[in-house]
Amino acid sequence: MSLFFMLSRMAQVIKTQERYGCGTSATGDTWSGWDVGGRMNSIQKSLDEDIPIGNGLRLAARDVKPCVVFIDDDGGRSAMGYYPILVNKGVPMTLAIISGRLHDSPGGDTLSRSEIQQFVDIGCEVAGHSVDHVSIRDLATYAEKEAQIEPCMRALRAEGWKVENFIYPYGSFDAETKEICAKYCRSAGAVINKQSPNPRPLETYSFSRVGAWAYAKSGSTLQTYKNVVDRAIAENKMAVFMLHAWHADHNMAEFEQLIDYTGWGSQQGV
Ligand SMILES: [Zn+2]
Repeated sequence: MSLFFMLSRMAQVIKTQERYGCGTSATGDTWSGWDVGGRMNSIQKSLDEDIPIGNGLRLAARDVKPCVVFIDDDGGRSAMGYYPILVNKGVPMTLAIISGRLHDSPGGDTLSRSEIQQFVDIGCEVAGHSVDHVSIRDLATYAEKEAQIEPCMRALRAEGWKVENFIYPYGSFDAETKEICAKYCRSAGAVINKQSPNPRPLETYSFSRVGAWAYAKSGSTLQTYKNVVDRAIAENKMAVFMLHAWHADHNMAEFEQLIDYTGWGSQQGV
């Protein structure tokens, strides 16, 4: 049996077993029951476990679990608006934080250390988002690019947070940026405004995000985002939404509705 045939056969088996709609499945499991969460770390962790599929073959878990991830960029003041929703739904998300803007004054333009800590305490993830929020691709040298990534990761980790992943400011990166991220981070994104979930294995250092509300592709509605969720489930993909709570176009009410649509909150409770 050729390797190609074996792999397509495995994919077929998995597809048959895992095809289900949002919140329900042929086996009675819900989506959230499949350890689908809003946190990159929990998802990456689930990727570490292979699944035996018979005949001594194992399929990497990453290939079979649909998931959805919400990432807010920049840690703006309005991001506190997520907090009661996440507590109420029992859902984690990821905050991409600019290390050069860390501060201790609640009420500023960006979240303070203790406010970010509140999110961490309910299971949210902090991701790196550079030191100064510059377009990394446009920096002249490798050293300048590295100086936006390594100290950012180090500073955020020094807060006691588990920081594994990086979000490119302005979605700006190049081959060197990816190479640097590979030294300090487990994964990095994103290419903004792609209207599709990510296939797995993930493009580890350039995974795609769907801009939702703020910086969304023109004409996008809540239904557009629901369709992305549906597609992630149908195709066992990873849907990553890029959010900017500080932006006037952000819609917190629809964000809550989108969480409900994933079926996650209803299953997890608080
Ligand atoms: Zn940003």
